[in-house]
Amino acid sequence: MNTSKSINRSKSALLFEEAKQYFPGGVNSPVRAFKSVEGPPVFFTKGKGSRVWDVDGNEFIDFCCSWGPLILGHAHPKVNAAILETVANGSTFGVPTVQENEIAKLILENNNYVEKIRFVSSGTEAVMSAIRLARGFSGKNKIVKFEGCYHGHVDALMVKAGSGLATLGVSTSAGIPDGFVNETLVLPLNNPELLEEMLRSNDDIACIIIEPVPANNGLLLQQEATLRFLRDICTQHGVLLIFDEVISGFRVGFQGAAGRYGIQPDIITYGKIIGGGMPVGAYGASQEIMACIAPDGPVYQAGTLSGNPVAMAAGKATLEELLKENFYADLEAKTKWFAQMIGSYCQSKGYAVTFPTIASIFWIAFTEKTIRSADQIDGNSMNHFKILHKELLNRGVYLGPSGYEVGFVSAAHSDADLETAAQAMCDAMDVVFG
Ligand SMILES: *Cc1c(COP(=O)(O)O)cnc(C)c1O
Repeated sequence: MNTSKSINRSKSALLFEEAKQYFPGGVNSPVRAFKSVEGPPVFFTKGKGSRVWDVDGNEFIDFCCSWGPLILGHAHPKVNAAILETVANGSTFGVPTVQENEIAKLILENNNYVEKIRFVSSGTEAVMSAIRLARGFSGKNKIVKFEGCYHGHVDALMVKAGSGLATLGVSTSAGIPDGFVNETLVLPLNNPELLEEMLRSNDDIACIIIEPVPANNGLLLQQEATLRFLRDICTQHGVLLIFDEVISGFRVGFQGAAGRYGIQPDIITYGKIIGGGMPVGAYGASQEIMACIAPDGPVYQAGTLSGNPVAMAAGKATLEELLKENFYADLEAKTKWFAQMIGSYCQSKGYAVTFPTIASIFWIAFTEKTIRSADQIDGNSMNHFKILHKELLNRGVYLGPSGYEVGFVSAAHSDADLETAAQAMCDAMDVVFG
């Protein structure tokens, strides 16, 4: 067994100590604190293509890709050029700009599932607005979410199942009034009977929100038939279906999961890739539903920096690349190949680990079972991930610092990068299971 030599992380460690004086936990988003893995967070100073470099001079092949936005890799020349060219003329105006029209046209002309779109500044904001829209449009109050799906830190959605099966939500954060979570009902994924029962026994449900490709609590791939059933039963009961495509949008295909499965939700939320690395979210729906949004309709939603021209330019430059012939097919093939290299090695060694993928998303599941709901994940398996993460850092591979998070392959990952990373992954697994 070849345990790796530890890389030097001393400058990162010092900077993290300093950051703790400024920010709660030293970070501006909790998972960055490396609480579930070893050592201080690494401070990156530079990214180019598939690679990132930290303040101590270590180089890594990056599979976090800023949690998904960087489907073209770091510092893509066309994206950077678009940003620089736009910002040279000013960064924000608070009036409509050409850049907003351009990206909207590009999206709407290539997406059969939304007719109008509204830009916001984060995925959380997109979801929050979509929920308000669903309530405003339907005149109903309750919302249904699935355990194991993450929808940003929206009050009413920071909720998981209570002790019963299909129950009132229990808040997963302090600072959220009971009154808010009481409006949220929580269901386990992949359980059509409970879903049906809930819809039959409630007539105040405005919407059901789901990550059609649940990728924030492991990769809980749903069967197409399950999603189709969800669509049909929502229609039967007059309940709006929201696809939260903040991760899957522009990732599992240009038209996201809606396009991949050919399922028409009522409202779709976007984030991450849509901003090309800048802070952007969006939500879209039919003309009829979007007509409820101010100033056309009574549902208020606004933003000082919404549709920011620099961010719109970065998004557009990114999306243009995605529309090129075979972009998604190539990326998906590469990802499958990468997962298979590691998977077949682990299988030959009898290691209890599998690598589910969809498009360019992969997950490291420390089990041989197919997992479709959050309760099937064994929390103890995260100890394996902790060892893996450290061994991979020491071997020049960066994964997001939690075993519940998925990895992303970008267009910038070359075959050679993937071979190198797969080798590192196999070596690291020898240590994990050694
Ligand atoms: C990342 C994510 C969000 C939240 O987006 P932020 O930009 O972090 O606010 C919401 N929903 C899903 C499915 C996400 O993956």
